[in-house]
Amino acid sequence: MNLRIGNGYDIHRLVSDRPLILGGIHIPHELGLLGHSDADALTHAIMDAMLGALSLGDIGHYFPPTDPQWKGADSLQLLQQVNALILQKGWHIGNLDTVIVAERPKIKPHIQAMRDRLAETLNIAPDQIGIKATTNEKLDAVGREEGIAAYAVVLLICD
Ligand code: MG
Repeated sequence: MNLRIGNGYDIHRLVSDRPLILGGIHIPHELGLLGHSDADALTHAIMDAMLGALSLGDIGHYFPPTDPQWKGADSLQLLQQVNALILQKGWHIGNLDTVIVAERPKIKPHIQAMRDRLAETLNIAPDQIGIKATTNEKLDAVGREEGIAAYAVVLLICD
């Protein structure tokens, strides 16, 4: 059994007049994340971790923000494409673990829905997906509610 590990990080700016989408779930909040796609920082971090595990570069390479076809893109669809690439190369997800860093809103009530949604998208079980949430203790840009960041680690298996 071969194993590969990958890590990913993403941050998006919080602005008004945008939906807040994390892990494919719309979270009610007066601010949302700014980006070319739906700016789902959690899903972006997961994709980068998956690509990184196989040394396949990053999501900017596959879905460049300069390409109009990814404008407003549903990040879960991009995640599905990254997963297809990994499966095609003979690998699959063992587990993935993530952290969302957000001062507000409260993320915890939405974690189970995110796990279910991501599991469905990746065709794995929800218990293969860890999602944790923390604040930044009011420190730095995330602590000032200027953005939301996400970290992801993934273990890939090739049987
Ligand atoms: Mg991003």
